[in-house]
Amino acid sequence: MQPLIIQCAVTGSADPDPERRPNLPTTPGRIIEESLEAWRAGATVLHLHAREADGTPTQRREAFEPLVDGIRAAGCDAILNLSCGTAAGRAERDERLAPLALRPEMASFDCGTINFGERIFEGDLPFLRRMAAAFGEHGVAPELECFDTGHVGLALQLREEGVLPPGPLVVQLVLGIPGTGVPATIAQVEHMRALLPPEASWSVAAPGAAQLPMTAYSILAGGHVRTGLEDNLHYRRGERATNARLVERVVRLAAELERPVATPQEARELLGVRA
Ligand code: ZN
Repeated sequence: MQPLIIQCAVTGSADPDPERRPNLPTTPGRIIEESLEAWRAGATVLHLHAREADGTPTQRREAFEPLVDGIRAAGCDAILNLSCGTAAGRAERDERLAPLALRPEMASFDCGTINFGERIFEGDLPFLRRMAAAFGEHGVAPELECFDTGHVGLALQLREEGVLPPGPLVVQLVLGIPGTGVPATIAQVEHMRALLPPEASWSVAAPGAAQLPMTAYSILAGGHVRTGLEDNLHYRRGERATNARLVERVVRLAAELERPVATPQEARELLGVRA
């Protein structure tokens, strides 16, 4: 089996809420600190959303830049995977692509439309093609986020059309999003990964209490994993997590299950991202 790539989704785009989410890093300084702690704990990919100084999620390039600079200045060699999402509905379509101008090694590429909680997350096909072209122009490897089976179909269609940048298909199965996402079950993981070509690499991200069992399953089944506070604020019921503690648990699980953990260099090779 391939070495396990551990990705940490450090902050996400939930509004700051000291009552409900006291452990979520929402200032640029805290996001950098938690990113470095997650990397030291064994994360080889850091998935980052940007926030203004007051914690408001944003897709502004100028808000991503200090995160990238701060993490790199500390000597961190993890792959940085910047969000091309909507900053919780604040950015629409092409506005979402602003962080690509920083030429990160990787960025998230949401493969379609979905009812995401109370909102509609838009990803019509003309936009997906423009997004694919922008990734290619900036030399950014897309992490194809698939929230539903049809999103896998769209990813394969874009590949077939030749609009995605060259390189291996890298798919993040994001399961269990309230709305129209598929539930976080083993049956769904197997159903969706069976649609992928054998050389594709896949990972599972699942929110809340589903994170731990889906992580364990993915380690056993040959997938990669995404952990972190974006998806799950708790270490266990009633106990708050930190990003680093969630990563440490994945490292221990992998050791018990005899799956080696990828180094940043191995992760770059497996994901086809430039050095
Ligand atoms: Zn995200």
